[in-house]
Amino acid sequence: MGNVRRKMKIVCIGAGASGLFFALNCADEDHEVILLDSNLKAGRKMYISGKGRCNITNNCDTKGFIQNVIRNPKFLYGAINRFKPSDTIDFFNEHGCPLKTERGNRVFPVSDRSADIIDCLVTECRKKKVDIRFNQKVMKIEKKDDNFVVFTRDQRYIADKLVIATGGKSYPSTGSTGDGYIYAKQFGHKVTELKSALCPIMIKETVSNDMLKMTLKNVSLTAENDHFRKTIFGDMEFLKGCITGPIVLSMSSLINRETDVALYLDFKPALDDKKLDNRLLREIQGSPNRDIRYLLTTLVPRDIIEFFIENTDTDPEIPLHSLTKETRQQLLYDLKHFRLSYQGLEDINKGIVTSGGVDVNEIDPKTMESKLCESLYFIGEVLDVDALTGGFNLQIALSTAYSCAQGILSE
Ligand SMILES: Cc1cc2nc3c(=O)[nH]c(=O)nc-3n(C[C@H](O)[C@H](O)[C@H](O)COP(=O)(O)OP(=O)(O)OC[C@H]3O[C@@H](n4cnc5c(N)ncnc54)[C@H](O)[C@@H]3O)c2cc1C
Repeated sequence: MGNVRRKMKIVCIGAGASGLFFALNCADEDHEVILLDSNLKAGRKMYISGKGRCNITNNCDTKGFIQNVIRNPKFLYGAINRFKPSDTIDFFNEHGCPLKTERGNRVFPVSDRSADIIDCLVTECRKKKVDIRFNQKVMKIEKKDDNFVVFTRDQRYIADKLVIATGGKSYPSTGSTGDGYIYAKQFGHKVTELKSALCPIMIKETVSNDMLKMTLKNVSLTAENDHFRKTIFGDMEFLKGCITGPIVLSMSSLINRETDVALYLDFKPALDDKKLDNRLLREIQGSPNRDIRYLLTTLVPRDIIEFFIENTDTDPEIPLHSLTKETRQQLLYDLKHFRLSYQGLEDINKGIVTSGGVDVNEIDPKTMESKLCESLYFIGEVLDVDALTGGFNLQIALSTAYSCAQGILSE
């Protein structure tokens, strides 16, 4: 008589991007997958991702992808190669959710509805007979001999293998409350310091109501201190007490481990000092009887002029015909080095992702299995990995999930 293979029971905590993708890749007749989530629906964070459109991946090669990873790019290299952005695009296109690529290689569903991405993943899970259980917040995990016992308020699940896909700590209303970090510590794992990432940056200056409606286009933001200097070019916006928008979110991920930085805004990054000076001289010669406030209207958006005047030594009433060279040069300097007083990053709850997490030195990069506890796995944002905006973070969730499923299936 041949050996009868025992069906393996796998519990995955979290029915977000990584949990769903793990489950549909792992479940088969030999692998029973139970997916537990505290919410009443799957993919709550994915639902609000990409402003409700879900930027599911970035249509780039592995090298380009890795350049956008902030924490532990080397650890992710294998996982991204095993399941690439092009594999994500093929997967959704082949499973009834066609995708399109937009500016910056950002990939979205053609329908522009994040719900279609979630439906596609849930439908594939159901086809593979994944047992998805909602309203099952995991309260406790115990290891008994070779098994894990997972406790929710009203149930107890016994697993041969346990996958933690609980996400980060930001936007806790989506269900991602950071429980995975507690489980990791319970099993002896180090959790690196958690920080906000892709979040607004707080500033001291008072932002007027008019400024809340505008986008500063094609500016550059520099953050520096004595050992660090980064400049990012693009668009930004203002909130009460904060700056936000694409370049600010990216900058927040680069500075979240710096204790203090000086922030500078360049309103005219496309013009070097000489070109900007020529431009100022042209405007002054063209309207000698106007004043500096008028001159500013030719250079920056109207809604920011008072803010600029209040936060520099600019005297707006000086007639242009009597502008000294020194004053003109000071104005030029302020336009290219407008100082914003850094007050730290917004709270971790408001970050698009959490920076920090389960220390990847203790995780097998091929399978996502713990090196400290056999049959325990960590996938997605709970790991100490994060990337810039553009679809990279969801792809990390999918690629780590895929590696984990392949690792278990290959045993
Ligand atoms: C506003 C916003 C917009 C974003 N937009 C994008 C984007 O367009 N593109 C992109 O690439 N990334 C985006 N991200 C980031 C991306 O959504 C996350 O990185 C990704 O969802 C992480 O996937 P995950 O599976 O690791 O965790 P999650 O998707 O957060 O899923 C974790 C799941 O675990 C469950 N859970 C947690 N604890 C327990 C417990 N104790 N018991 C049971 N269940 C539990 C939660 O309910 C949740 O469903 C965005 C994030 C935010 C907040």
